[in-house]
Amino acid sequence: MPRCETCGNDYDKAFTVTMAGATHVFDSFECAIYALAPACEHCGCRIIGHGMEVSGRFFCCANCAHQEGALSLKDRAQIGRQDPTPAPPDR
Ligand SMILES: [Zn+2]
Ligand SMILES: [Zn+2]
Repeated sequence: MPRCETCGNDYDKAFTVTMAGATHVFDSFECAIYALAPACEHCGCRIIGHGMEVSGRFFCCANCAHQEGALSLKDRAQIGRQDPTPAPPDR
């Protein structure tokens, strides 16, 4: 039976992920994310969506990119308005 690379679980429904020419075996998406997903350079969370990349650096969102000085990245909410209205506060 294939064995998960991350946790070592021997699982009959394991699957493989091929990334950059190398094939990896996992028993769950969680383990695959842990092993393969890039981490945000600012907050360290795993990037499991599209994320943002600039000059080979990865960020989970534009705010994290800005904190690290990558000011060219924008979230969709920041694009296409001449005078963006700030989002209402959560409370
Ligand atoms: Zn696993
Ligand atoms: Zn982040």
